[in-house]
Amino acid sequence: MGVVVQKFGGSSLKNAERVMEAARKAIRAKHAGNKVLVVVSAQGSTTDDLIAKAAEITGAPSAREMDMLLATGEQISIALTAMAIQELGESAVSLTGPQIGIVTDSTHRKARIKKIDTQRLTEELDAGHIVVIAGFQGIDEQGDISTLGRGGSDTTAVAVAAALKLAGYDVECEIYTDVDGVYTTDPRIVPDARKMDAISYDEMLEMASMGAGVMHSRSIEFAKKFDVPLMVRNSQSDAVGTWIVPEEPWMSEIPACGVALAADEARLVLEGVPDRPGVSHRVFSALADANIAVDMIAQSVGTGGKATIGFTVLNADLEKTKKTLAPIVADLGAALNETGKVSKVSVVGAGMRAVSGIAERMFQALSEEGVNMKMITTGDIKISVLIDEDGPPESAIVEPPTGEPIKKAHLESKKAVRGRRALRAVHKAFALAQPRKGAGDTGTGFKPRPSPMLATVARDRDAAIAKLDGMEGVLVSGVHLNAEQSRVTIHDLPDVPGNCSRVFNAVATGGILVDMIVQNQSGPAKAELSFTLPRADLTRALKRTQDVVRAIDPAARVVGDADVAVLYVLGVGMRTHTGVARTMFGALAARGINIAMINTSEVCVGVVVERARGEEALACLKEAFKLT
Ligand code: ADP
Ligand code: ASP
Ligand code: MG
Repeated sequence: MGVVVQKFGGSSLKNAERVMEAARKAIRAKHAGNKVLVVVSAQGSTTDDLIAKAAEITGAPSAREMDMLLATGEQISIALTAMAIQELGESAVSLTGPQIGIVTDSTHRKARIKKIDTQRLTEELDAGHIVVIAGFQGIDEQGDISTLGRGGSDTTAVAVAAALKLAGYDVECEIYTDVDGVYTTDPRIVPDARKMDAISYDEMLEMASMGAGVMHSRSIEFAKKFDVPLMVRNSQSDAVGTWIVPEEPWMSEIPACGVALAADEARLVLEGVPDRPGVSHRVFSALADANIAVDMIAQSVGTGGKATIGFTVLNADLEKTKKTLAPIVADLGAALNETGKVSKVSVVGAGMRAVSGIAERMFQALSEEGVNMKMITTGDIKISVLIDEDGPPESAIVEPPTGEPIKKAHLESKKAVRGRRALRAVHKAFALAQPRKGAGDTGTGFKPRPSPMLATVARDRDAAIAKLDGMEGVLVSGVHLNAEQSRVTIHDLPDVPGNCSRVFNAVATGGILVDMIVQNQSGPAKAELSFTLPRADLTRALKRTQDVVRAIDPAARVVGDADVAVLYVLGVGMRTHTGVARTMFGALAARGINIAMINTSEVCVGVVVERARGEEALACLKEAFKLT
């Protein structure tokens, strides 16, 4: 018999009426012949209210006590939902995270799941009850209550679905929320955003980790790792929502499936760093040890033996980052500067791997809006741009009417005036409001089907899962070397809107597929822009770049390097599991291999090294990740 896992978010349970509606959905699934497991979040704004209550007592509550407090929100919901099901004549039992044995590590407020004991769950399901479990919470090995991080109930739902799948059940997972599914971007910011019929795990993982708050990104890690197809749908209707599934062949034809905005990051710049092997390792391994996930990393190629490393961290981690790096900065004789308020706009799409001109289209749209890009980094299937939110008042900006009011949890994005404007411009540039295959094009309604690829993927996955140190352990599935790449670097490019767009327009019109892009500020009002491309295209790309750069500023320098190799480490949750970067930089540093460019994303970390050392780097990374 199949198990249906249904997760209801806060707004879907905000009052008694909504709780009854959720109970009816669960009962309906039971009457359709399924065993039913319901995962619930805290009602409405309960979690925010609890945080506010703590703030009335102290400005620095202990993380353990916060978890004790926050976990109460979900406990209210399970009891009420179970009562509602009973009131409607079905049997139900409510269970907390600790009661069902969701064991986590002890990182309070962002704990990771180590294992889930399915015994109690299956006993209750077999006894015919609808089981209602508390999302967002677990218990650590000392017996203390932990929580998984804001939005973590999605992760509970998918993790429980995965655990039941591993226990041999046929599982379906539905995420009920207050929108019809996953849209091309947040419909509250861009009212003409379009609902998608389906999106791949990788695309959703990148969208979520780049700011699409509709799903907790860690839930998608579970979904991909354990292959749990999900549907995100509206708790207020029976409309078919959005499937999140393994990548289908048609998805790779769509260069950009969605865009996302994040407004909760801070940018830091390390200046005057000695350009030698091991320096990035020292910096990023210290941050990894402090459990700080670094997002964008842009390392400018060293000139005069010194390099600049720009990177972003969550605002919440800013103080800890500065404290962690202070001794290293002093020792390196470098300076660590903070650079005002920023927001980040990302475009995501599986088709980006093979289609040229995506970056150019994004930069052009931003340039037409007069947006200045502080930093650019790319991943396998995403491009992110950092936007300065400080600057002259933007009173002249007329904001178009948006959808429903922004929720408390997403308030940060309300403040990112320039980011929101940039988001709309990029959404428009990729015509994301228009119907397309997989997003509202009539006749192509998506239904997931077993892919012939899945058998092999499943075998590899089972082998990989056997090596995990816990259910939420990072999965590194492969390391690849591309020794056919070359690199173009522009030093001292005037840092004004439109310049990047001009460069990539020149390259894209030559049909050249640019892979990695890193842009960083290299001095006052100057940027350094590097990109990689197939070696066979280097001469053409250099010529085109030189022509356009000469017209922008004859003082800017263009340098080509035919002797680079790019290494990609692929997996799931690569950025947020801070140990991946540490292992990678550590392994390369131990061999004295210098890293010239770095790009990070949830599904791929890429580094550029000297070509002569490519094979050696490949071998050492395989060894470091035990992939041999
Ligand atoms: P829940 O309480 O059900 O977990 P959330 O507030 O966490 O709900 O997530 C739903 C919200 O996510 C929507 O109301 C919407 O504003 C926001 N959102 C952000 N990006 C997207 C997107 N790409 N598609 C749909 N919703 C999005
Ligand atoms: N109640 C928690 C929060 O508000 C978890 C969740 O809603 O998923 O973050
Ligand atoms: Mg949520």
